[in-house]
Amino acid sequence: MHYVSTRADASAASSSPSNASFSAASFSDILLGGLAPDGGLYLPAEYPQVTGAELDAWRKLSYADLAIAILKKFATDIPEADIEALARKTYTSETYRNARPDENAADITPLRVLEDEGGRKLVLQALSNGPTLAFKDMAMQLLGNLFEYALAKEGTELNIFGATSGDTGSAAEYAMRGKQGIRVFMLSPHKKMSAFQTAQMFSLQDPNIFNIAVEGVFDDCQDMVKAVSNDLEFKARHKIGTVNSINWARVVAQVIYYFRGYLAATKSNEEKVSFTVPSGNFGNICAGHIARMMGLPIDKLVVATNENDVLDEFFRTGIYRVRKSSETHHTSSPSMDISKASNFERFVYDLVGRDPARVKALFAKVETDGGFDLSGAPGSDGDEFKQVARYGFKSGKSTHDERVQTIRDVADDYGIVIDTHTADGIKVAKENIEKGVTMIVLETALAAKFNETILEALGEDAERPAGFENIEALPQKFTVMPPNVENMKAYIAANTGL
Ligand SMILES: *Cc1c(COP(=O)(O)O)cnc(C)c1O
Repeated sequence: MHYVSTRADASAASSSPSNASFSAASFSDILLGGLAPDGGLYLPAEYPQVTGAELDAWRKLSYADLAIAILKKFATDIPEADIEALARKTYTSETYRNARPDENAADITPLRVLEDEGGRKLVLQALSNGPTLAFKDMAMQLLGNLFEYALAKEGTELNIFGATSGDTGSAAEYAMRGKQGIRVFMLSPHKKMSAFQTAQMFSLQDPNIFNIAVEGVFDDCQDMVKAVSNDLEFKARHKIGTVNSINWARVVAQVIYYFRGYLAATKSNEEKVSFTVPSGNFGNICAGHIARMMGLPIDKLVVATNENDVLDEFFRTGIYRVRKSSETHHTSSPSMDISKASNFERFVYDLVGRDPARVKALFAKVETDGGFDLSGAPGSDGDEFKQVARYGFKSGKSTHDERVQTIRDVADDYGIVIDTHTADGIKVAKENIEKGVTMIVLETALAAKFNETILEALGEDAERPAGFENIEALPQKFTVMPPNVENMKAYIAANTGL
């Protein structure tokens, strides 16, 4: 198994050995990195396929054993015994202990049937039982262990530099805190996260964790990360790595729970399942796309957005139009407040027939013209949008009022309290549910993280899992900074001592 960049000519790997590290990388080669050197994203040269017999055998597996089976297909350069040890260390009921009282924590991503009537079946898959109560833990906990393993093997260190609108940052920090040879520099938009999220991140006192509150929105933070990462000399000297959602290992870790959800919701491989995914950077649902390309019988992949509807617009019209910072809404499902979807290029690569030159041209157009149009209309950039149905994608959006109403309805109808992102998912799932096809909605956070909106919807506080009772009262450690790249570099240099 080797990996190619969405913008690199894969045939260059064989014709030009000097290009090999660009065009044909191993899992370990790309583990600690983010973007490919040419600015593209990494994908397997071919998606590994899963047979019906394998799927049958996987029905009986524990979450860790399923993870091992899937990771072995992607990380072919890591010894199998090491993969086994890493997965067993990661997927424990101790780490995913924040399950609801009636859920089995050992299931790691327990399913809950919300509705099963007249052939319409709606199921919730909990991905938010990890240490930070959001689905980012699913990938990040594996990444923490993989990084530790890889760095020890190479005898080197790593400075993780990332941007977060909330959940990524805390998940990264909780996965990396206290790890030898790793520091985390995490940018977040100043005063734009919920009180709970802020407390979760800023209360960490570990000396290897640096929280930087940027005076701007999430995309200003992301632009700073890109600017620093594009300075290859600085990046190399300070051993800068990333954990943002374009990291390939994160995507792989997310592929696992699509298999798990499918296998737990069905009895045979004849059954089809659809997934609705609360989406922002397209990382989560990109893993669903990959699971589907591997042969998992997924019918529809439904993208749910909030008011920041870049992706919904694309999947309705074929037009990808990124928003400016000033057009990015600050919503009550803030982890989906994005103006461009950083993982979207992976899907576009498949959509345009894995043509790297075309991907390069389209994303160059995003930089110059703010987007591209694949609708096939006169004057558009292409007509590949007509292929979208082949990949099973659908979409929908939800606004604040709809989110609040959905939280109420779910509490009334099913007796559980869901968070705002999951509410966007349920709202859009209900519009796309079909008879005879189980609809699984991915629960991407627990309600306690977004209590302000729960209070608005239900007039009472969301329940907090044990251990989270008073986190807002804990002392906080963070640095406020303007969105200035030179300031940022100086801060990193001062704190890495490299
Ligand atoms: C990150 C996040 C999302 C969006 O996931 P993407 O991979 O960026 O599409 C949705 N909900 C929650 C709670 C999140 O933390």
